[in-house]
Amino acid sequence: QLDAALISMNPDSVTEEREDIADLVGHVTITPDVAGHSSLDAVVPAHYGVFLTTQINALIDERTCRKDPRRVGSLRVIALGEITGVPGARLDCECGLATCTKGGGAVNSDSAETPADAADAAAWDDLLPKPADADVPEVEDVEHPGAPEPADEDDPVEFVEPVAEPDVADPMDEPTCDEVPVAFGRALVVPGAPVLTVLKDPDGILVPRLQGYGPIDRDYATALVDVAKTVHYPESARAAGPLIPQISDRPQAPPADPTGHGGHTVPPPGALTYAPSATLRAEVLANDVWCRYPYCGMPSHLCDLDHWRPFNHTDPEAGGWTVLGDLIPLCRADHQRKHLAEWVPTLYTDRRVEWRSRRTGQVIVTYPR
Ligand SMILES: [Zn+2]
Ligand SMILES: [Zn+2]
Repeated sequence: QLDAALISMNPDSVTEEREDIADLVGHVTITPDVAGHSSLDAVVPAHYGVFLTTQINALIDERTCRKDPRRVGSLRVIALGEITGVPGARLDCECGLATCTKGGGAVNSDSAETPADAADAAAWDDLLPKPADADVPEVEDVEHPGAPEPADEDDPVEFVEPVAEPDVADPMDEPTCDEVPVAFGRALVVPGAPVLTVLKDPDGILVPRLQGYGPIDRDYATALVDVAKTVHYPESARAAGPLIPQISDRPQAPPADPTGHGGHTVPPPGALTYAPSATLRAEVLANDVWCRYPYCGMPSHLCDLDHWRPFNHTDPEAGGWTVLGDLIPLCRADHQRKHLAEWVPTLYTDRRVEWRSRRTGQVIVTYPR
């Protein structure tokens, strides 16, 4: 919030500071560390950071299932190695289950066979974590709703790859991703789906935001035009203005649609699907820049999207819908805390959330920006 305020009040100094930081402290250092390890430390432009984070998370998401026993830290190490082309670095699921939805390290690693929806999900949901709610039962194949059931064989992996075929590449062929150490070339980046997104306000009032990072100065936003997808702040965010708490003469907005239908009478596309689409998630994140629980500052791109009025899995039309007017970002911990119902939220149409303590009646209001 302070960064955004500084950028809007004194844009030139912020641009200067960014350039100074690049000149004075931008660096990559890799030093020997204990027991066969090295330490890596870097100060890089924000979009480098977002890009790397995105690629690492997408690779982990694409190659490992939730049953992989390793720490996420270990997975990130291997992913970074593979992405930067370290010889022999390759991330494969180590769940050891024949039913692994990610292939479990099976030879069948050609990413071209990834279902289109999974590839789409990998490209878009990369800003992590998954827009899953904590209150949905975890289903193994939830990421691949269209994936075929594993064949009813003792060992479906063997079934997929019957005999070791002589895999001699024609030198005139396009190199496959197995031959090219740059793993994200084909495995991760879906053509036409940029991994960097900059939010801009055509009215020039709200400061630009690099999705996955935060507010950036206008010169930086302009410099990213060729490498990032530019999206406008949604109408809802622009109407609300930069900092809602400062606008005291604004009439109090009414509570949001209590049915959880976001004011719609007919469910818009995707409203009856539990997980929000990439577009809808982006719209929520553009409105709400952090976790909406009291006193939490977790950036919204690291949050779950929670249905304010619960989604009804048996009768989706009857419950809260998957629409902007029924979704708020909550970090994983606060998401679980919300379901303890100690603090009961009321969402307003300006996206204020009033949290009322069930025990004491105390009210805490949180704002989207
Ligand atoms: Zn697995
Ligand atoms: Zn939180």
